[in-house]
Amino acid sequence: MNKIIKKLILCLLIIFSFVFFFQNLIYKTYNNNYVEYSKFITDLTKNKIKEVKIIDKKIDVIKKNNDKYNTYIPINDSKLLDTLLIKNVKIIGNKNNNNNFFLTIFISWVPMILLIGIWIFFIKQIQNGGKNVISFIKSKAKLFKPNQIKVTFKDVAGCEEVKEELREIIDFFKNPDDFIKIGVKIPKGVLMIGPPGTGKTLLAKAVAGESQVSFFSVSGSDFVEMFVGVGASRVRNMFIQAKKFSPCIIFIDELDAVGRQRGSWGGGNNDEREQTLNQILVEMDGFEENPNVIIIAATNRPDILDKALLRPGRFDRKVYIGLPDIKGREKILKVHIKNIITSKNINLSLIARSTSGFSGADLSNLINEAALLTVREKKKKVTMLELEKARDKIIMGVEKKSLLISIKQKELIAFHESGHAIIGCLLPEQDPIHKVSIIPRGNALGITFFLPKTDILSENFKKLESKISTLYGGRIAEEIIYGKHKISTGSYNDIKNATLIARNMITKWGFSKKLGPLLYDNENNNIFNVENDKGKLKFISDATLYIIDQEIKIIIENNYIKAKNLLIKNIDILYSMKEALLKYETLNYEQIKKIMNRKNIYF
Ligand code: ADP
Ligand code: ZN
Repeated sequence: MNKIIKKLILCLLIIFSFVFFFQNLIYKTYNNNYVEYSKFITDLTKNKIKEVKIIDKKIDVIKKNNDKYNTYIPINDSKLLDTLLIKNVKIIGNKNNNNNFFLTIFISWVPMILLIGIWIFFIKQIQNGGKNVISFIKSKAKLFKPNQIKVTFKDVAGCEEVKEELREIIDFFKNPDDFIKIGVKIPKGVLMIGPPGTGKTLLAKAVAGESQVSFFSVSGSDFVEMFVGVGASRVRNMFIQAKKFSPCIIFIDELDAVGRQRGSWGGGNNDEREQTLNQILVEMDGFEENPNVIIIAATNRPDILDKALLRPGRFDRKVYIGLPDIKGREKILKVHIKNIITSKNINLSLIARSTSGFSGADLSNLINEAALLTVREKKKKVTMLELEKARDKIIMGVEKKSLLISIKQKELIAFHESGHAIIGCLLPEQDPIHKVSIIPRGNALGITFFLPKTDILSENFKKLESKISTLYGGRIAEEIIYGKHKISTGSYNDIKNATLIARNMITKWGFSKKLGPLLYDNENNNIFNVENDKGKLKFISDATLYIIDQEIKIIIENNYIKAKNLLIKNIDILYSMKEALLKYETLNYEQIKKIMNRKNIYF
């Protein structure tokens, strides 16, 4: 409470000084040509004045040479009028001083009204809220009562292990006596760790839904404000509310926004964050006697959290949620497509296969995009076509059909993509091909899409080599058809990726005979230690660096030559695939297979 009054006084002081400053400023600009009264009288006696405008005690003067100034009448000068008349000066009364009138009102009244308004506002807030509820300080937590929560574990697909861990909390809420009788300690705080969009919020809500308890949802960043003390007040307030609505679950998203290690904040406003964090710790400790409130927090940066948060009695239970695997992705797709009208022959497992790295949120977005596309195309049902289009849009950006590409350029792109596709198909270790397209998207002029059969957890030497060959397939096709001197710059990304693979093979994965299975990589995982990255730790000698470069080059060259020989042997396929691409723009798996088997695809 003391703090609030202090803040109020500070606020008023600031407003006051602002008003005075402002008033002065206006006053000065308005009276910038002030001249002493005696000077005016001198001018008057010397016949230099043409016109005066008298407004109360102020006189706006225009001289005969059209100079202007103003002055003030110090005492009631009764002779002034006579003198003016004798000197033939044009006299104007104060009829035209509207400007001044409004200005006066503005200067004298608006700040007053403003001040009174603010005062009344604060007083009202204090009266309304009882002790310390000024809406500014009110917690921003959103409350969902049990009957408002429609989410249960059924809506969360995959992540069975996590559900299993959380089930304990549900059991506790349902039969607390059983737990208390035996003396089991129920976790106060559960920390969910995982990348964004993996369903942490959804899971927390589902726990509340399953347990039929209230759910408070708030984000760590909601606590962080400019003014010291506000965050802490919000935390206090939220816990007071939570106690009122217990049994309940408090969910704090982005815990790292407030829970970062104390002393590690770059930039200002540390006091505020530290106070907020301290308040969270205090509240959690004070919760010992109230077992009916459980806090679930989410973060994707557990490494930067203040250690105090992870101590027993606080967030001592950790649950990891990763990106979904193939099966998980298919399940999530199924959950989200439930309420959407689809054609019978959609193959969600294919979409799951081709969306490695997607989070639950991405997948939900994919389904939504597909539905939107269907509506836009005035179709009645979502088909595989829309699902694939939505996926490609998310992975590779929007198709740029309107991009103007000359016939010649198009032909080059068709050769380039065919080169990738053919090499990829001819090397058995490469993932199966999915499609080839010369429709530009995002930054790419064309794409060749390979599809792993399962999630890739690790690669082997042969497969990595095939990848490199396939990546160079595009450039090699250009080289064979147009000659060395006409190769385009379109292979930048291919070269970049291939070089990266080769470098990793040598420096990280131990695939070089000469260098052996050693780590030759100055990796620095500590993202806060940027300086270290520049002045890299030097534990690799220059001689070794030289060998590394040689070895990378050898890998690249070998696989380049291998791919080139393959493509030259199958040059007829290169031509026929180019033709097909120019005709259809996109080729699917079946079409590519036919071309590879030298069958006619034009029907
Ligand atoms: P996080 O809190 O981890 O960032 P959210 O819980 O906010 O992720 O997930 C965002 C959305 O993604 C959810 O509302 C849901 O539609 C979808 N989603 C994420 N994971 C899953 C899942 N396992 N099952 C079903 N939907 C999911
Ligand atoms: Zn390419």
